[in-house]
Amino acid sequence: MSTKYVYYFGGTSSDGRSDMKNLLGGKGANLAEMCNIGLPVPAGFTITTEVCTYFYDNNRQYPETLRAQIVEALKKTEAEMGAIFGDPENPLLVSCRSGARVSMPGMMDTVLNIGLNEQTLKGLIKKTGNERFAWDSYRRFVQMYGDVVLGMKPQTKEDEDPFELLLHKMKKKKGVHLDNELDTDDLKKLVKQFKKAVLERTGKDFPDDPMEQMLEAVGAVFQSWGNDRAVVYRRQYNYPHTWGTAANICSMVFGNMGDDCATGVAFTRDPATGEKVFYGEYLINAQGEDVVAGIRTPNKIAELKIAMPEVYQQLDDIRNKLEKHYRDVQDIEFTVQKGKLWMLQTRNGKRTGFAGVRFAVDMVHEGLISKEEAISAGRIPPDDLNQLLQPIFDPEAKRKAVEEGRLLATGINAGPGAATGKIKFYADDAEAYVNSFSRDANGKLPEDAQVVLVRQETSPEDIRGMQVATGILTAFGGASSHAALVSRQMGKVCIVGCGDLKIDYKKRTVTAGGKTLKEGDWIAIDGFSGEVMEGKVATKPSEVVQVLISKTMKPEESKVYQQFAELMSWADDVRKLKVRTNADQPDQAAAAIAFGAEGIGLCRTEHMFFDHILPMREMILSSNTEQRKAALEKLLEFQRSDFAGIFRAMKGKPVTIRTLDPPLHEFLPTLDQKDKQKEVAKMIGVSPKSIEKRIKELHELNPMLGFRGCRLGNVFPEITEMQARAIIEAACDVAKEGIAVEPEIMIPLVGFLPELKAQVKLVHAIAEKVFAEKGTRVKYLVGTMIELPRACVAAAEIATEAEFFSFGTNDLTQTTLGISRDDYGSFIRHYIENDLVKKDPFQVIDFDGVGALMKIGVEKGRSVKPDLKIGICGEHGGEPDSVKFCHRLGLNYVSCSPFRVPIARLAAAQAVLEEKNKK
Ligand code: PEP
Ligand code: MG
Repeated sequence: MSTKYVYYFGGTSSDGRSDMKNLLGGKGANLAEMCNIGLPVPAGFTITTEVCTYFYDNNRQYPETLRAQIVEALKKTEAEMGAIFGDPENPLLVSCRSGARVSMPGMMDTVLNIGLNEQTLKGLIKKTGNERFAWDSYRRFVQMYGDVVLGMKPQTKEDEDPFELLLHKMKKKKGVHLDNELDTDDLKKLVKQFKKAVLERTGKDFPDDPMEQMLEAVGAVFQSWGNDRAVVYRRQYNYPHTWGTAANICSMVFGNMGDDCATGVAFTRDPATGEKVFYGEYLINAQGEDVVAGIRTPNKIAELKIAMPEVYQQLDDIRNKLEKHYRDVQDIEFTVQKGKLWMLQTRNGKRTGFAGVRFAVDMVHEGLISKEEAISAGRIPPDDLNQLLQPIFDPEAKRKAVEEGRLLATGINAGPGAATGKIKFYADDAEAYVNSFSRDANGKLPEDAQVVLVRQETSPEDIRGMQVATGILTAFGGASSHAALVSRQMGKVCIVGCGDLKIDYKKRTVTAGGKTLKEGDWIAIDGFSGEVMEGKVATKPSEVVQVLISKTMKPEESKVYQQFAELMSWADDVRKLKVRTNADQPDQAAAAIAFGAEGIGLCRTEHMFFDHILPMREMILSSNTEQRKAALEKLLEFQRSDFAGIFRAMKGKPVTIRTLDPPLHEFLPTLDQKDKQKEVAKMIGVSPKSIEKRIKELHELNPMLGFRGCRLGNVFPEITEMQARAIIEAACDVAKEGIAVEPEIMIPLVGFLPELKAQVKLVHAIAEKVFAEKGTRVKYLVGTMIELPRACVAAAEIATEAEFFSFGTNDLTQTTLGISRDDYGSFIRHYIENDLVKKDPFQVIDFDGVGALMKIGVEKGRSVKPDLKIGICGEHGGEPDSVKFCHRLGLNYVSCSPFRVPIARLAAAQAVLEEKNKK
């Protein structure tokens, strides 16, 4: 039997089901499922994703049997809908809609009203008795087909849509503002003009054959899988380009046949806050695209209760039925044609991090889902928790801004959070502007690079600009407009439908509240309340941070916190990986514990030295061991008290302290800092010349691969001795105070066993000395970082001396890939945009390269010591996919910065569930 390429849906039974998304795409699978559960869906059929991949693999050709399968499915569709495709008396019109296995809102193309030509148009007029409507449909069809299938869509912001231009001219000539003020004769003329434009542009007549129209539209939908915005979108969410999209041929139903017609989109709960309210909007006498495109600001769904009470009731029942069936919040599209409700789509609703957490927690309490489902990645991508930890506007600063008359307008709060940035009106300008700044060592952009994208509405072309913007503000559109949907998914602060904004793209100004702001002016938008303010507004910590860290809010005062805490407790019940933090100071450690950290995985001692730079310089510049020891004596005191502070904060949780790592010259003044050189010279009683000489001696061409890590401790053993003494003395002192301590001393950048052996011996010798001096002992471990390929390969040998391993994936990535972690910014964007690498390897572990070495390291290490404790403390330790990888490798813990601890906890739990589901 030949492959089945076409799946029918309609009436109360379909060929497909909701679990066939890979083949039918999300839209196709769910249209089938809605029929299966008895909801009113206009009949049609889905052309599978396999046809799309065939199309790309075979020079844009279709499989041979496709046409026959389409004809067969079309017959069933015609029977169900009681109309015939291409029939001049009783024509069936169809749409062709894209639908990949994951939803990519607005990224691909759609063609409506397929099947219209001069003959079927007559049938449509007869059938509906509405000549104007029929000509309007034809006008829309020629325009959409011209744009999407015949490639007449504008390519840049300077290009103008030829159809829009003609439409504009016609409206001007007639002295009207809106499309629906044009009469039948105007529309007839427009169709003629549109067709002429097609002939001029393409050299061919506009196609009349309905079957040709349909097949060409399917091809255009497949082509749109490869357009720039769809590619960018897939790259952002790591979806393979090989998946392909399905094409859905759906019978047209019309929401624009009169005032007993409507079209709308809705969410079964509020996708911004998570509140359990029916949330959405509709327009009377309109087509679906009008609502999503945001051109007319629609009515709230609650108003439909008054406008069309029966339809509302039916829709509300469907809302409950869908949530029970899918057990998740649904995003639906519907059309009312002459009082009859039709469902055009359902899918899991995109949500903010706030809403994701609230949906999950509420649905567990409602008995709809289990706790395990609540914490699954499909419901809460771990990075979304970030939104709950991000700052909010300081109410005081906001009140002041309002008092000062800086409140410009209020729109719909579509994406919660606080954003302040410079105004940009075009997405590509925003992109170019932000990309002109460089990131600092922590990956942060300067404040000046913050941009708020201000637009009438956004469209899928704007995705790159939306990615770089801190906030998005639109004048039109509702809570389901493109801007709202996409921002919500990206976790951007967003306000839509802010009708008081008057945007002048030509002058690049926005006017509201009696004020005019220019491009580049500062603007602040509050995505919780929808308020738009002129200038900058100060922020303060989020509610979760206020409860946990600053303690300025009580848990019972914050619903957001309560839900967050409940969800995190479910994650903790499931996960196997421990989560530690990278912290160098007691306050950081305390914050991390509040976020759930179970220990410190990396305390970088060099960060502590920066606070004691003078004795540090003295130590480095010493010309003999005696001098160096005297300087180290001073540092010992500081280190001891720093370590004691951390041990106290950690209250018996393990604390991994790494011996000195960075190149020594980082602590010295540079060659041109003569003043600073003099200062050090004076302090240690040497000549400025000798300081300059030492700086030159210590200069390195490749410091990252130079005199750092355990090489320092091996060449200058007194440094390690001092640090070991400080750690053990602090541990003994704190233990004497009655506080449990668990120190773990970690030797960095080890490649050869003897390097580690020498350092371990040193540490043990010092520890014994300190125990004798103090008359007490504490338990401690000495282990190593694994951050060189050689260390992974020689891990069996290294494990003979190490009591634990911790992967330093920052250096391991640098040394495995031969890419400098400091200098890769110049080319990495090109690499990602051209699919030369999937992700930034310094953010997400390069699983096949670095990850393979880690696997070797784990296996070899545990071949010697089966219970060897192994963790990770590179930046990857807080990145969800990398955390999951670490779980699969069998690590004991991940360690990350304090604010990523909750993200790592959730990712670690998801790793367990994903493993279970695989089995
Ligand atoms: C690492 O290399 O992954 C690491 C944690 O050490 P650092 O970043 O301090 O070199
Ligand atoms: Mg390192």
